[in-house]
Amino acid sequence: MYDYDLLVVGSANADLVIGVERRPGAGETVLGSDLAVHPGGKGANQAVAAARLGARTALLARVGDDAHGRLLLDAQRAAGVDTAGVLVGGAPTGVALITVDPSGDNSIVVSPGANGRLTPDDVRAAGGLVQASRVVSAQLEIPLETVVEVVRNLPPGSRFVLNPSPPRPLPSEVLAACDPLIVNEHEAKVILGESSAGDTPEQWARLLLAKGPRSVVVTLGAEGSLVASAQAVARVPSVKVAAVDTTGAGDAFTAALAWRLGTGSSLEEAAAYASRVGAAAVTKQGAQDSFPTAQEVEAL
Ligand code: ATP
Repeated sequence: MYDYDLLVVGSANADLVIGVERRPGAGETVLGSDLAVHPGGKGANQAVAAARLGARTALLARVGDDAHGRLLLDAQRAAGVDTAGVLVGGAPTGVALITVDPSGDNSIVVSPGANGRLTPDDVRAAGGLVQASRVVSAQLEIPLETVVEVVRNLPPGSRFVLNPSPPRPLPSEVLAACDPLIVNEHEAKVILGESSAGDTPEQWARLLLAKGPRSVVVTLGAEGSLVASAQAVARVPSVKVAAVDTTGAGDAFTAALAWRLGTGSSLEEAAAYASRVGAAAVTKQGAQDSFPTAQEVEAL
């Protein structure tokens, strides 16, 4: 019996957003809107998304001993995430400084801060949490060696889900543990190497499978997703919605998919459910604020 349906190991960032008429060039100062501060980071987003759907969720992450860290912890707890695994201190909380112009184009500077100090030792010290979780998910906004340590500590029978974002080449030990590896087009191409990536999602999936994951999911925005394993390759359409803001859709999709796989759904069933969650998330502004409850997914 597992204590948690999903353990998310990953980043927690404060997103500091300022609207500007025009993004500044080198040496330039521009005036912007009032500052908006939102809880974000792929790990924190995934944990909130899963908990809001009703999954028993825990987060293993690191934040600073500062106001941004407290904001992030409050958002996790409000969503029902178990934060006993969130370590505090060692560096300031990770921050994304975001300027957005009226057309929606943005410039982003990320300071990983405490995310960069989530170490393999931290994973070993949280061994009980990893052992108590049916599914473990990770992304790459924390050090790669930390993700490697997660893979090494997975209990027999558990399941590991990775969204390799931001993408980089992955060691075979990590690839072999993924079930599934969840990528968008850009991530697929970086992991495969641009020149050998192929042209279609079907080709990316087959080439990625050959690198060792037990399954692969390619996310395709409004087109839905493609799921692939040794047994089958299938397109999974999403539902039609009026998109308002796509921020966080990938995180909501990944969290929902990981949770549903743990409840015994097939990859295709889990992707169909996760598509509805991703679609619901794009109908509202923001990341964590846009994630639906299970009732909202049903109503979609
Ligand atoms: P991100 O940009 O957040 O890192 P991503 O590129 O990995 O995310 P997307 O493909 O944008 O992820 O979205 C994930 C899933 O959410 C899609 O596979 C799809 O099922 C659903 N989704 C996203 N955008 C839409 C949309 N406009 N309409 C319907 N479903 C959507």
